Amino acid sequence: MISEEGRGKGKNKREIEEEENLETMHRRLIDNLGAYLLLGDKVREAMLRVPRHKFVPEYEQRAAYMDRPLDIGHGQTISAPHMVAIMCELLELLEGHKVLEIGTGSGYNAAVMGEIVGQNGHIYTVERIEALANFAKENLNKTGYKNVTVVLEDGSMGYSECAPYDRIIVTCAAPYIPEPLLEQLKSGGIMVIPVGDYFQELYKVKKDIKGRIHKKRKGEVIFVPLLGKHGFRKGLEC
Ligand code: SAM
Repeated sequence: MISEEGRGKGKNKREIEEEENLETMHRRLIDNLGAYLLLGDKVREAMLRVPRHKFVPEYEQRAAYMDRPLDIGHGQTISAPHMVAIMCELLELLEGHKVLEIGTGSGYNAAVMGEIVGQNGHIYTVERIEALANFAKENLNKTGYKNVTVVLEDGSMGYSECAPYDRIIVTCAAPYIPEPLLEQLKSGGIMVIPVGDYFQELYKVKKDIKGRIHKKRKGEVIFVPLLGKHGFRKGLEC
């Protein structure tokens, strides 16, 4: 969402070169992902449009186009690009979808989904750490994503205010699939969620038109834990 004329504006030669280097690394990263993942055009183009270096702290910017998770402070990470790509593909996102994300972090994954669902769709993304919710809001504002709303709450309860959702994505590992999330998923909807403690498995969950739940395992993953009422209790004062 950064316009051509906005690029390089008010910058010195070194800053312009730095930006060009980042752009080259960005394109290379997405090409590399496409070489070993089944990456559809929608996800590929969205990931090319979202500048990941604008969603990480300054000290991580040079590493933004490496395919690995990066520190975003508060003991949390921005997921590796391949994981964002895999989860977005599994979600089968379409233009106009209303999506709930649990675990805003930097706001990057929300921005990628915001690109795919477009102006007729919307992303509601829930974060429990206030400093990260604010960090994500800043990142989304400066990159121009108006179809993403950041909510500060315990996402293990979902976000009933705007339910039901076409799609739900959980970007932290849950001990089990939280009932409120199943309730807030539309019939015909898809949820992607990592489940487990030490050994975690990514699940694709479908709710059919009769409201029946179908789960498929999609491989082992490593995520930070979902904390909260329907999450892990460790690290929570209560
Ligand atoms: N999607 C993020 C991005 O694009 O940067 C990365 C998310 S990070 C791997 C997981 C996030 O889940 C952390 O920011 C963590 O604070 C958050 N989290 C953990 N438990 C939560 C809960 N109950 N509600 C909302 N967010 C939670």
